[in-house]
Amino acid sequence: MMPQITINEKCTAPYDCKRCLQVCPQAVFMVLPTEMHTFRENRPEEYRLIVVFRDKCVLCNDCVDVCPVGAIQIAQKEE
Ligand code: SF4
Ligand code: SF4
Repeated sequence: MMPQITINEKCTAPYDCKRCLQVCPQAVFMVLPTEMHTFRENRPEEYRLIVVFRDKCVLCNDCVDVCPVGAIQIAQKEE
């Protein structure tokens, strides 16, 4: 069983929010720039929340509860 973690388009400013990232006991999430720029700094709106360690998720649902916009969905799925 591997949890399926979906982040929808309601997560528009993960760089400023990061609440799911901070609450997750398993450090499943990361906020990363969508593109790497060589000659200028990345801007906050160019960051996205990504799921890096889906296999570490313990299905506690804390990230779902903490998200102010309801952007995270977690489902248990047979694979
Ligand atoms: S359900 Fe819990 S362990 Fe899984 S990603 Fe959310 S906060 Fe992390
Ligand atoms: S808590 Fe919700 S809005 Fe905030 S970064 Fe996580 S998914 Fe995005």
